[in-house]
Amino acid sequence: MGSTLRANDASAPFKVLVVGGSYCGLAAAFNLSDLCLGKAARAAAGYEGQDALPKENQPIHAEITLVDERDGFYHVIGSPLVFADKPYAEKAWVPYSEIPSLQAATNIKTVHGSVTSVDMAGKTAVIKETALAGGATRTVDFDFIIVAAGLRRAFPVVPQSGDKAAYLAEVSPHIESVVTAKDGVLVVGGGAVGIEMAAELKLAQPHVKVTLAHSRSRLLSSEPLPDHLAEKTLEIIKENGIEVLLEHRLQETRELGDGAKEVVFTNGHTLRVNAVVVAISQSKPSTDFLPAEAINSEGYVKIQPNLFFPTDVPNYDSALAAGDGVQWSGIKRCGRAMHQGYFAAHNCHQRMQELTSGAPAQYQALKEVIPMIAIALGPDALAYADGGELQYGKEIAERFFADDVGLKICENILGFGKKTEAKV
Ligand SMILES: Cc1cc2nc3c(=O)[nH]c(=O)nc-3n(C[C@H](O)[C@H](O)[C@H](O)COP(=O)(O)OP(=O)(O)OC[C@H]3O[C@@H](n4cnc5c(N)ncnc54)[C@H](O)[C@@H]3O)c2cc1C
Repeated sequence: MGSTLRANDASAPFKVLVVGGSYCGLAAAFNLSDLCLGKAARAAAGYEGQDALPKENQPIHAEITLVDERDGFYHVIGSPLVFADKPYAEKAWVPYSEIPSLQAATNIKTVHGSVTSVDMAGKTAVIKETALAGGATRTVDFDFIIVAAGLRRAFPVVPQSGDKAAYLAEVSPHIESVVTAKDGVLVVGGGAVGIEMAAELKLAQPHVKVTLAHSRSRLLSSEPLPDHLAEKTLEIIKENGIEVLLEHRLQETRELGDGAKEVVFTNGHTLRVNAVVVAISQSKPSTDFLPAEAINSEGYVKIQPNLFFPTDVPNYDSALAAGDGVQWSGIKRCGRAMHQGYFAAHNCHQRMQELTSGAPAQYQALKEVIPMIAIALGPDALAYADGGELQYGKEIAERFFADDVGLKICENILGFGKKTEAKV
């Protein structure tokens, strides 16, 4: 760091670009906004007594630009219910224009578009706005970039639309097809996503026969989770009326006419259904826009424990990354994403203070995360942290997901604020 302090006033604000406005990006933007306005970060209340996070701060002029390809917050965790229930689908996408505390934050603006490239040496990024937002492509400069662009996931694990109207048009035919499936629905894939899709469908539409097929002999076979958890999961979903076919690998689906399909498995078993839902996540980090030296061979950002970029990237101390798209331990979860978003905000703010006052930055460092998971299983849920006790049942469902697959819980943690009467 040089000895000259950086000026910071209304004419020379720090320009912060946040890429991605889901759990992690919103946590980063909101908490950084709070800190720069001289307030305690809204997430700090949940960290009472941990690592002595500060309650008050020197205000810092900042312009935070949050860019997302979607025009709002999409509750990814709720996807399994979104694809089974129209009224819920309506609630699970909250346009940024309807998030009260986002509208109230004077130092955050949102851009509906995609970040297509980042030049770390020049500290610039190219933003391509969506057609709805005007379709312009422009290059913007930044003092800091926070990458929270998560993972790209296939349909029907998540919808692919960029705005709420298109999203509702995208999910409606799918919902219609599963709700009216008189011969039943096959969900393919016994990972967490497939299990939740089968369970939420059965919960929302109890009249539909739901079958879950998995190619392996054990559910959750690709997660670092113990056998007894997989066995309990199997027991619960069977109790909730889902038929489970283990060691069943999908070979082909034949159209039989009249909306019926015959599914053929490689072991010769066949099944007649009306809809097949492929719930295999095939996710990939959304980091194509970053320089190669910032990412590993799988596309994850190689963060340092303080979430800054690796030191061989030019201006690495101006760039942080957090959430599902980073190389860090632990199962990818929204709680982990929000926690990392908050730490990215805290550390970005510390660096701003260092640049403006010379006071050495006091960074929060990520700790290694043990495997932990909470799975929504319709009326039940199951929660586990490595080495701990397996918890399950309706009380666990209430605690982790309440009655809306965790939507209000996440909105509260992120601090959406109260909706106005007109928007309820
Ligand atoms: C079906 C399903 C069920 C799940 N259930 C649970 C659960 O029960 N509990 C749990 O804890 N976790 C669950 N998860 C995992 C959880 O959803 C993720 O951990 C969480 O979404 C990660 O948040 P994130 O903000 O890091 O990334 P994401 O949610 O992936 O968000 C990334 C954002 O960045 C935007 N973006 C991407 N690239 C760009 C770009 N170039 N320019 C602009 N914007 C961009 C995207 O539009 C998106 O809004 C589930 C996941 C799925 C798919």
